[in-house]
Amino acid sequence: MCGIVGIYNHAEASNLAYLCLYAMQHRGQESGGIVTSEDGTFHQYREMGLINDIFTRDVLTKLPGNIAIGHVRYSTSGDSSLKNAYPFVIKYAHGWLAVAHNGNLTNYKKLRSELEKEGSIFQATVDSEVVMHLLAKGGAAPLEERLIKALQRIKGSYSFVFLYEDGLIAARDPKGFRPLVIGELQHNGQKTHVVVSETCALDLIGAKLVREIEPGEIVILEKGTVRNIKPFTPAKKRAQCIFEYIYFARPDSNVFGRDVYVMRTGFGRALAREHPVKADIVVPVPDSGVPAAIGYSEESGIPFQMGLIRNHYVGRTFIEPKKEIRHFGVKIKLNPVRGVLEGKRVVCVDDSIVRGTTSQKIVKMLKDSGAKEVHMRISAPPTVWPCFYGIDTPTREELIASSKSVEEIREFIGADSLAYLSQESLYWFEKTSPREWFCDACFTGDYPEELDDMPEIEKMAKKTS
Ligand code: AMP
Repeated sequence: MCGIVGIYNHAEASNLAYLCLYAMQHRGQESGGIVTSEDGTFHQYREMGLINDIFTRDVLTKLPGNIAIGHVRYSTSGDSSLKNAYPFVIKYAHGWLAVAHNGNLTNYKKLRSELEKEGSIFQATVDSEVVMHLLAKGGAAPLEERLIKALQRIKGSYSFVFLYEDGLIAARDPKGFRPLVIGELQHNGQKTHVVVSETCALDLIGAKLVREIEPGEIVILEKGTVRNIKPFTPAKKRAQCIFEYIYFARPDSNVFGRDVYVMRTGFGRALAREHPVKADIVVPVPDSGVPAAIGYSEESGIPFQMGLIRNHYVGRTFIEPKKEIRHFGVKIKLNPVRGVLEGKRVVCVDDSIVRGTTSQKIVKMLKDSGAKEVHMRISAPPTVWPCFYGIDTPTREELIASSKSVEEIREFIGADSLAYLSQESLYWFEKTSPREWFCDACFTGDYPEELDDMPEIEKMAKKTS
């Protein structure tokens, strides 16, 4: 998964991009990068690791210019290496061009092999490289025209920001899988435009949210003006990712026009109505399960307690000692509070079960700390199908719910009871945002966009529309 940013018209564009990426670090922790344009001259820096480690003061001073784009990456297409870090930059007949991409193109392999047959040479294994090749192919036509043609050929999910010598372009796929918003910042009497994946990044730099970039919309920021075009016939159905609400986005963000926190507490409330249980305390799996557990507690009247505490300093850099000591597993991240748990019947709330190994360890941890009963409640339906639109999920075989029933999963994780939110209750908010606006393929197998690169899944999936 990834987070993207574009800053237009600010003397400290790279600093603002850095801050926005910092706020969106949860969207990707593998690599980060910023590219700036200083009157048409590009400056770039990309590195593996976390934003705060990559962008030192020294690095940022080497990124002058008043337009910038940036990216945080967690790979869903292409391996995790510096050559695949974004933004992706090329120099071609029309000058310099860079792109940052959130999403996943589902006909990348097919397009790449077609382009290679025609003589294109690829440097990396990231899907958006095909977009750069398609953009390079449109002859002398203006960028806008070449972009429309390129976007017509790609399938899958994309929220893009492009940086070119004169400006910045933001584009969102016609089904609107991934979020993208535009905001404004007033600075020394000048207006700066900011494009970001999540509104929490606007909050950090003091920018005001203007609106969502609509599915299928292209916004062009050039020569001090903002223009938008909608060159595609609007898709009959949107396919906004429901998992952004369940797990992925920050709870303090507004995504697809709704507050993520409100959505999550709503899932928790619906879960309590659908799957009540007699218990003494509601305990979240922090951080992802906290808002849903608050909702469950409010609805059920069972007191909320932090029976598990998370170590917030665990990064990807933690090196686990080998056999000399022991295997730490989930204990590196979470520690139980015995005083809270001892002798209690616990409702433990988490957002999802993927492979099932985390829940298994958590149930054991709660019981080892004296919990009398552990009732696991999941604020989403079972994750049965992999995502091909930008969320990092394992293969179908590795998803525990694809081969085991709820009762078998309960037995595997060792809980006294286990219940998931139903597909019906998931859409508690349906009156104001119809369920047809969402992609929930991870629960249903209804993939809303063709999977040209995955013919086996395409055959197995329930349908595509
Ligand atoms: P597992 O042990 O594989 O069942 O992992 C379950 C945990 O992973 C839950 O606590 C979720 O919050 C978390 N989770 C769910 N989806 C993802 C994802 N795409 N990437 C990382 N963690 C996830």
